[in-house]
Amino acid sequence: MVDPTSDLGEDVDPDDAPRCGTCGEPVVDAPDHRVLTWVEDDAVRSVHFCDDGCRARWD
Ligand SMILES: [Zn+2]
Repeated sequence: MVDPTSDLGEDVDPDDAPRCGTCGEPVVDAPDHRVLTWVEDDAVRSVHFCDDGCRARWD
């Protein structure tokens, strides 16, 4: 069943979407979406950002 009003695509539920590490907005289908990943304590960590602006403000 496809919801014709949904523009999220790919069965992405906003509640399941990663949150921007800077502004906290859900990162859903954002064309400028950025992801930063690194390894910490033998675990892979990742932070998502809406765009380069949020990425630049995260530190
Ligand atoms: Zn953001």
